[in-house]
Amino acid sequence: MGPNLVRLPESAARRKEISLTFDDGPDPEVTPRVLDLLDRYQAKASFFCIGENAAAQPELVREIARRGHSVENHSYHHRHTFAFFGITRLRREVDAAQSTVASITGRTPVFFRAPAGFRSPFLDSVLAPRGLRYVSWTRRGFDAVSTDPRRILKRLTKGLAAGDVLLMHDSASVVLAVLPALLEQLSARGLKAVSLVSACASEPGE
Ligand SMILES: [Zn+2]
Repeated sequence: MGPNLVRLPESAARRKEISLTFDDGPDPEVTPRVLDLLDRYQAKASFFCIGENAAAQPELVREIARRGHSVENHSYHHRHTFAFFGITRLRREVDAAQSTVASITGRTPVFFRAPAGFRSPFLDSVLAPRGLRYVSWTRRGFDAVSTDPRRILKRLTKGLAAGDVLLMHDSASVVLAVLPALLEQLSARGLKAVSLVSACASEPGE
């Protein structure tokens, strides 16, 4: 397996930064409301969009970028068998999502997260030459499977610290019930939500 960004670099943690990451969008109902909540708290995030969803909602993808968030690669079709794909199919999935996002936003993604979070042993040989960095997370709310906002919030915030990478989904409306309280807690703890691009920008060698 290749390199995997789990936690933000030390420099970002020292600045008391954390990253909110939203997978599986954009969703025409949920994503615009997520964007408004983030604006209200001056929080920035990274959106791991599914390529075909992005292609179906180009205006929404442009809006994500326009508001200062980064749009990253979560494959084109989000197949749950992605980890078992051969190299040709992996390349197709990654490239189709790269070019879709790049053509909509004018910016080529630099981070990748696999569907269901499982990595193929071939994946790094596809990501590295494309300048894509693999990202996982330090905390997840299981908000795609759980419907109880309090439990999701607790999973995301118990022991929350600078440098954490939080995984959520803007494909399920429960995130709208979690996000205001989460953003409140971040500001109460003096933590700043930034995009992965911004958190990693000042990393030596980047
Ligand atoms: Zn996903």
